[in-house]
Amino acid sequence: MHAVIIGSGLVGAATALALKQVGIEATLYDQVDLFQAAIAAKGAPVAVEFGESGGSVLIASIGLRVLRTLGLLDEVMASSYPSPTTNWFKIDGSSPITLNASKVAKDCGENEEVFQTSVQILRSKLHSIMMQACNRAGIRCFTGKKFVCYSEMESGVTVEFEDGTTAAGDFLVGADGIHSATRRAIFGDSSKAEFTGAIGHIGVVRTKEHNITLKETCAFYLEREKKQTAWTFKISDDLAAVQVMTFNDPKPSEGNDYRPVADLPKESSRLADMMAEWGVPKHVEEMMRRSFRISPAAIYDLPDLSTYHKGRVILSETLLTERFRMQVSVYDWS
Ligand SMILES: Cc1cc2nc3c(=O)[nH]c(=O)nc-3n(C[C@H](O)[C@H](O)[C@H](O)COP(=O)(O)OP(=O)(O)OC[C@H]3O[C@@H](n4cnc5c(N)ncnc54)[C@H](O)[C@@H]3O)c2cc1C
Repeated sequence: MHAVIIGSGLVGAATALALKQVGIEATLYDQVDLFQAAIAAKGAPVAVEFGESGGSVLIASIGLRVLRTLGLLDEVMASSYPSPTTNWFKIDGSSPITLNASKVAKDCGENEEVFQTSVQILRSKLHSIMMQACNRAGIRCFTGKKFVCYSEMESGVTVEFEDGTTAAGDFLVGADGIHSATRRAIFGDSSKAEFTGAIGHIGVVRTKEHNITLKETCAFYLEREKKQTAWTFKISDDLAAVQVMTFNDPKPSEGNDYRPVADLPKESSRLADMMAEWGVPKHVEEMMRRSFRISPAAIYDLPDLSTYHKGRVILSETLLTERFRMQVSVYDWS
């Protein structure tokens, strides 16, 4: 049996590896086109689109369990940083609240110690570990393959890509992220992601080089009335991520795909100045100012579906947006 998987992000790669474990071969197809990216940059430094983009991701117990099943837990643990507490502050760093996240995981029934503490990892590192595992397992990944449509026969599916080529398999997996074209192909435009109005920017900074000391591994700074948030995450002894999110960004069209900003000095100053105006602690502002990479990300929400498959097509999605929706509702940002 053979699966055609659209999208080679974290979910596509994990799905391919999981299918391989149960004896189903899969091939990954992603729209990312490394060659076109280099041409579009017109000689300027270009981010390797499957590599150095984005910031960090937090992996909690369920994600860690998935990684163990895929045989990747040790490798991921070796490149990640434990995040046992979550700390909340007012925007200026006052009124701290500390949540012992490891204890919460234990109290919620996570009985294996190794899974009780969440970890932070550079998203690009996690992706690279998963893509290398796919490579070792003989799972092929074709880039420059933008999914356009599919047709279903009694015996299988055929997928058409924008470049006019096709791919055939026994079934199709849509793992093409929040703006999934596969989702729309099955369930129509009403199932597409809705913009929440919030724009986030994630920076990554070398803390030692800039004498930045982070006391907390995971900290959120909030101004509820003005809907302003800044977050900091420790990724390693020398790396940290800083995220800022606002509903009032003057450049709201930017950032559907986490590609790093081209004009880093201008954007890091703009965001750091904005954060200084909000009154964030100095080290948080400094983290944005000194970031060596900043990736914008507009925040979308995905409508729930009553089913995630139809015929020979299955959608493979994460609950990341669900987590964001929970955060928004916890803070009652209506
Ligand atoms: C480059 C990048 C950097 C990110 N950085 C962060 C981060 O720092 N922090 C964070 O919390 N989240 C980040 N995210 C988002 C996070 O990885 C995902 O939201 C989450 O992991 C869900 O994974 P996914 O595989 O479903 O989607 P994604 O990781 O978004 O992957 C979807 C893949 O599908 C491909 N694709 C989309 N449309 C098509 C199409 N029509 N045809 C073919 N391929 C298609 C995309 O190129 C992408 O590689 C990032 C996503 C990307 C793509």
